[in-house]
Amino acid sequence: MKALVKSRAACGLWLEDVPEPEPGINDVKVRVLCTGICGTDLHIYDWNDWARSTIPVPLVIGHEFSGEVVELGSNVADLHAGDLVSGEGHVVCGRCRNCLAGRRHLCAHTQGVGVNRAGAFAEYVVLPMMNVWKHTHPIPHEIAAIFDPFGNAVHTALSFPVLGEDVLVTGAGPIGIMAAVVARFAGARHVVITDVNPHRLELARKAGIQKAVDTQTTPLKDVQKQLGMREGFDVGLEMSGSPAAFREMLENMCHGGKIAMLGIPPSEMAIDWHQVIFNMLTIKGIYGREMFETWYKMTVMLESGLDITPVITHRFSWRDYEKGFEVMRSGEAGKVILDWHDVS
Ligand code: NAD
Ligand code: ZN
Repeated sequence: MKALVKSRAACGLWLEDVPEPEPGINDVKVRVLCTGICGTDLHIYDWNDWARSTIPVPLVIGHEFSGEVVELGSNVADLHAGDLVSGEGHVVCGRCRNCLAGRRHLCAHTQGVGVNRAGAFAEYVVLPMMNVWKHTHPIPHEIAAIFDPFGNAVHTALSFPVLGEDVLVTGAGPIGIMAAVVARFAGARHVVITDVNPHRLELARKAGIQKAVDTQTTPLKDVQKQLGMREGFDVGLEMSGSPAAFREMLENMCHGGKIAMLGIPPSEMAIDWHQVIFNMLTIKGIYGREMFETWYKMTVMLESGLDITPVITHRFSWRDYEKGFEVMRSGEAGKVILDWHDVS
C-alpha cells in the first residue's frame, strides 16, 4: 500500500510502498479516507530533538484520520465493514491503575498512533477495537478526520464550567480556535482569543470569535475594559505553548480563576508564582482526550449545530503531501487535510 513513511533518520517524509498492516483478533483494519496534518507530524518531518528521541525508524506516521472499516478481528463484535470511523490516537495499556479504574486518558503507558506504532498516513491503518469511534450520524469525512485535535479542544474547553463565565484563549491555532468556538457554544459570556499572527486572528474571526486580539498592539487590560469586565477572566485555556502568552494569561485572571493548559512550552518556563498563590489560581494540564466522554461530547455538539468547518483552510491530495506540510509551516493555514479517497 501507499504510505507516508519516516524511513530515514533525517529531515523529510517519503511516499513509499509498504506491506498492508494485519489486524490481530482484537483489531480493526480501516481504509483511510481523510487525514489531518498535526504540529507533531511537522516535528517528525523536521526531525527535531523530540522526534529523534521518540520515533522508531522506519515508521508510517499520522494520527488524525477518518476511514471506513474493511476488516475485523475475530473478537470484534460491534463494528461492521463499511462503518465510518475516526481513531483515538492514544493506545492505552488497559492494566495500569488508572486504566483499570476507567480513567484511560491517565494511562501510565500510553502508545501513540503514528508516533510509537504505525500510523494513518496510508491506505490502511490497524487499530485496537477500543480505539475506534464509530460515526452513527452523517458527518463530512474531513471533519471526522480532525476529531483528534477537535477532541483536544473540547477536552480543554470543558475542563472547567464555562456557562456565564468570561473565557480567555491564548493561541489562535486550529485547536485554540476550536476551543473558543466550543466555549461559546457551551454558554460562556465573553470569549477572547489572542495571537500574534494576523492570519490566525482573521481565521478566528471567520470561525465566529469576534474578540480576536493581537496582544502586541492591544493589552488584555484594555480588552477587559472594553468588555466592561472588572475582575479578570474566570477561565483560561492556554493553547499557544508560548511562555509570553501564559504570563499574560496569569496577569489577567480573576481571583480563583481556573486555567486548563494544553499548549506545550518549548522548554522550562518561569512564571510569577505569586500570581498563582495569592490569586488562588487552579492550573490543570491537559493531554489528549477523555476516552470516550470527550468523543461523545464532540459528536453530540456537532449534531446540535456546532460548526468547526472554518478551521479547515487547505485540502490536498495525498500525492501532494509536500504542499500540505509547506502550507502548515507557513503559519497561514488552519487545519490542513490530505484526501486519500482515490488512493487505490
Ligand atoms: P499552533 O502552533 O498551530 O498554534 C499556536 C498558536 O499560538 C499560533 O497561532 C501562534 O502564532 C500562537 N502564539 C505564539 N505566541 C503567542 C503569544 N505570545 N500570544 C498568543 N498566541 C501566540 O498549534 P495547535 O495545533 O493549535 O496546538 C496548540 C498547542 O497545543 C500547541 O502548543 C501544541 O503543541 C499543543 N498540543 C498539545 C496537545 C496535548 O495533548 N497536550 C495535543 C495537541 C497539541
Ligand atoms: Zn494504562
